[in-house]
Amino acid sequence: MIKKLKNFGLCYICLISFSINAERFGDPGEIIAVKASSDDIDKYLTVEINESLYKLIPLPFEKQNESIYVDDEKININQKDFGESRITIENNSMVNLSREDSDRAFKESKIIQKALNNYSKFLVPDLNFMNPVKGIISSRYGKKRYINNQPRSPHLSLDIAAAEGTKIVSPTKGRVILVGDFFYAGNYIVIDHGYGLLTSYSHLSKIFVEENQIVTKGEKIGEVGSTGRVTGPHLHWTVYLNKVRINPELLIQEGYLESLL
Ligand SMILES: [Zn+2]
Repeated sequence: MIKKLKNFGLCYICLISFSINAERFGDPGEIIAVKASSDDIDKYLTVEINESLYKLIPLPFEKQNESIYVDDEKININQKDFGESRITIENNSMVNLSREDSDRAFKESKIIQKALNNYSKFLVPDLNFMNPVKGIISSRYGKKRYINNQPRSPHLSLDIAAAEGTKIVSPTKGRVILVGDFFYAGNYIVIDHGYGLLTSYSHLSKIFVEENQIVTKGEKIGEVGSTGRVTGPHLHWTVYLNKVRINPELLIQEGYLESLL
C-alpha cells in the first residue's frame, strides 16, 4: 500500500514538471529554440544544437504580454521596457512629407515589403553572424521613438554609428535581393540568407553589390553613410526571421545558438 502511494506521488510530480516545462518565457525580439522533428526541416529554419534538431521561432515585439503556441508548447512573451530615443530632424520636409514625397515613400514601401516577404530555400543560413560594421551602437532594438517630439513606431533595428565610408560586410552568407535608393532608407540593401532569415542595411554612402549577387560572410557590401532620413552617418541594420524583426544584437553574441537551450 505504501509502495503504491509512493508511485502515485512520483507520477504526480512528473506531471507537474511536464506542464511547467511546456510553458516558456522569452523577451520580445528574441529567438526561441523548440525541439523539431524531421518534418519541420522544410517548414522552419532548423538548426542542430548539441546534436539535437531545433526549429527557431521569433518572438514578435508587438506581442508583449501575449502568448504564442508552437506545437504543444506555450511561449509567453514578456513585457519589456527598452527605453526611448528622441531625435530632432531639422529638415521639416523629411518629417512632414509633401504629397510627392509621401507618394514616393508609399510606392517604395511596397517594393521593400515584397522583397522582405521573400522566402527561399536555396541555402541554409549559418547563424554565427559577424558584426557587419565596426562602430558604436547609437540606438538599440526596441526603443520608443520620438521625432521632433512626435511619437513614431518603435525602433526594431540596431543603429551602429561610424564614420562616413566605414566598410560594411555581410554578417553571413546570402543572396542580395534588393538594391536601391529610397526616401527613408537612402541607399539600401536587402540580403536573403534562406529559410525566412533576411537582413537589411540602410543609409549607405556606397553600395558594392548588385541584385542576385551571392555574398559570403565578411564580404564588403557597402560603406556607412547618411543617405535617406538620418541625423548623422550610421548603419541602420535590421534582421528578419519569418517576417518578424528580431534583435540584431543577439545574433552577434558569441555562442548565441547554444545559449538558446
Ligand atoms: Zn535606426
